Amino acid sequence: MPPSERVGFAIIGLGRLSLEEILPAFGEAKKARVVALMSGSADKAKLTAAQYGIPADAIYGYDQWDRLKANPAVKAVYIVTPNGLHRDNVLAAAGAGKHVLCEKPMANSSAEAHEMVEACGKAGVKLMIAYRCQYEPFNREVVRLARSGEFGRVKMIEAFNGQTTGLPEQWRLRKALAGGGALPDIGLYCLNGVRALLGEEPVSIQAQIVTPENDPRFKEVEESVAFTMRFPSGVIAQCGTSYGVHESRELRVHTTSGSLDLHNAFAYRGQRLTVAHREGSHVQRDEPVLTHKNQFALELDHMADCILKDRRPRTPGEEGLQDMILMEAIYAAARTGQPVTV
Ligand code: NDP
Repeated sequence: MPPSERVGFAIIGLGRLSLEEILPAFGEAKKARVVALMSGSADKAKLTAAQYGIPADAIYGYDQWDRLKANPAVKAVYIVTPNGLHRDNVLAAAGAGKHVLCEKPMANSSAEAHEMVEACGKAGVKLMIAYRCQYEPFNREVVRLARSGEFGRVKMIEAFNGQTTGLPEQWRLRKALAGGGALPDIGLYCLNGVRALLGEEPVSIQAQIVTPENDPRFKEVEESVAFTMRFPSGVIAQCGTSYGVHESRELRVHTTSGSLDLHNAFAYRGQRLTVAHREGSHVQRDEPVLTHKNQFALELDHMADCILKDRRPRTPGEEGLQDMILMEAIYAAARTGQPVTV
């Protein structure tokens, strides 16, 4: 699609994700282009704009939504600020009449997420949550294989997303800006991934949280969370997340006649899929060959396509809201030590 016909995006917040992944991904997108930036740092925004051919008058401060509104080249905004600011940013974008792609986690609470869905609905703009793995080819292949019946019925799922989180002063460890610790930041990939894979909602959740005492990083948010979800079909999903482990991002699906293992499942790149299938006494092992693609570019193009064709995004605001509700249930289950029915 020629650049002039592509959907124009404004990037809100020029942090690590925007600078290292999202802005470069526009180079691989086919239907989206970047036309404006919003930042609290004028110098950084000016430099970034020059790098991506964005006009100097399409740089905005966080208090200049009226100027952004008046820019007809901006059809959509991509919100990439700390989680605790997503609600206000989305409400401002809806007020400016722009479609919204919002980073995960959608908000700090289900109440905020609900407000965001309502505001976008009233303004008649689309709201999509940036669940990049739902656009990534290896994750999509796992969903397809799990649902195809080729491996029998799905019985159990294991999902783990962990990493080491460093500096105590970062916003990710402040409750007001992050909403929580490992769970909303990275455990969310396990929760959303399992729901997307099964296409059903959990009915019961159990959880445990462990946070080391006297660690300056974890004064406000949790370090490690284990949660188990039971689904109406009888599937049990065992999920774990931690800010205190070596990087590990694995998804494993156990079926009646085989297994699907996705290595680096929730990483930006480097996915590897291995499958095992039992036929009689023989176990067939394969490593399906798929083409790696830039998930951010795929996600941007999906949003652009939905705007161009007036379609509902695959991961709309309601999807983010449901995850916020379930994360609150996980926290409640950990707090009480009792299973929570949802
Ligand atoms: P960073 O801290 O690197 O960047 C956040 C940016 O937000 C800052 O650089 C700043 O941009 C802006 N900002 C505005 N107000 C504040 C504030 N009060 N404190 C700190 N920053 C502020 O974070 P990330 O880029 O890693 O994360 C941003 C969002 O993206 C989060 O919601 C996170 O969960 C999500 N994310 C998603 C990932 C994915 O794979 N989908 C991976 C990583 C993050 P400026 O200087 O321009 O004002």
